[in-house]
Amino acid sequence: MNMQTYINQLIKDMREAAKQAPAQKTLDDAKTPEEFEEIMEFGHTGRNMEEKTKTLAQLFGIPSSHLPPAEKLTQSQIKTLIDEIEKLWTAYHLFPEVPEKAPDELHYNALKKEWDEEMVYVPFGWHMDFCDGNCEECQFLEYCDTGQEVLSENIAPNEKEPPTAEELFPRHPNEDNFIPGIYNYCNRWCERCRFTDKCRLYADEEAMGLHDEEQKPGKEDLAEQLKNSFNKTFQMIEFIAKDMGVDLEEPGEDILKEEKKKDSRAKEEPLMSKANSYTKNVSIWFTENVDKTCLSEKDDCLKNPEIIEAFEVINWYHVMISAKIFRAVRGSMNSEDEHRMYDANGSAKMVLEGLKESGKAWESIIRNLPEFGNDGLDFINQLTDIEHSVLKKFPEAPDFIRPGIDELKTDE
Ligand code: SF4
Repeated sequence: MNMQTYINQLIKDMREAAKQAPAQKTLDDAKTPEEFEEIMEFGHTGRNMEEKTKTLAQLFGIPSSHLPPAEKLTQSQIKTLIDEIEKLWTAYHLFPEVPEKAPDELHYNALKKEWDEEMVYVPFGWHMDFCDGNCEECQFLEYCDTGQEVLSENIAPNEKEPPTAEELFPRHPNEDNFIPGIYNYCNRWCERCRFTDKCRLYADEEAMGLHDEEQKPGKEDLAEQLKNSFNKTFQMIEFIAKDMGVDLEEPGEDILKEEKKKDSRAKEEPLMSKANSYTKNVSIWFTENVDKTCLSEKDDCLKNPEIIEAFEVINWYHVMISAKIFRAVRGSMNSEDEHRMYDANGSAKMVLEGLKESGKAWESIIRNLPEFGNDGLDFINQLTDIEHSVLKKFPEAPDFIRPGIDELKTDE
């Protein structure tokens, strides 16, 4: 086979692989408690990271050996392959950033080399900049303005002054109005929240354009923002740890194993299985009855705001209930840690609210769509059963006062 025929086949394979790429994920897309938890907490806990470690070869199903050595390619073939490879990466929400001035051969070899590197693949989008901060040994130094600048100032990037408290925690113009930690135990339904002007998280997300349909960032911008946000979170954690004299060493293998065991035990808790069944059953019910039948065929459904409201509420909480139960159950496994137990009770309190609201929504479905009466009753029974189990496991949850949300309710 001549090289061009080979390349044509390789391009075909890459385009096929691109079609298999998973959709980019945002919070709105979480379909399972794990996905929800992952999106909410990725970057904070790094939970189950090792399970997500893959090479690009595994991800695409194309071994690196299928990419021909640059020296066997013509300039135009190299250009074509760079273009196709980058399209493939972008389909998987990975955005390569090679300095523009880098010659094509170097560019191609860098992409090829990355093929067998292990990485944690999370489909939120990720910029890959081939920069490890070691400018002196970087293959792109000659073509990289930042690297040149850093070396001309004679400062290694990793020796740069760490960010100050003011840089990491800048005062927001609305700072005095914020309720500390309000976002920790809320239902994350910002669109409907009456505390948006009191919530730092909302303010930060608003600044990123996440609450404005017209300003919502595109896929690449979102990936960049997530990356910056994770980096900032790590810097904040480092800063706080240093301030408290805590050494942030990588946890040892024993600790990671122990944490994994706790994750598995939490997933096996009977309360967790009840919550997961509810999430799964509601998803199936939506697909079978709402997506396919009700909303598509029954115009009345779409005209009745009560029904729409009930569907929205059920839909909003059905994943969150199990995700938050997992967080509560998992946190309670470290009951000797006061903060973890506090957090577990806070999550359980949010779950109780979700159960109550979902129950009311199912009652509305029964009232307005009697043909779903039996299904509605069945779901209400599932919710009641979960509620009993939550109250048994977290008897202090009903008295938990969520910052702002319950305080203001009490004051009213
Ligand atoms: S408190 Fe309100 S505004 Fe803040 S994250 Fe929660 S739902 Fe959104």
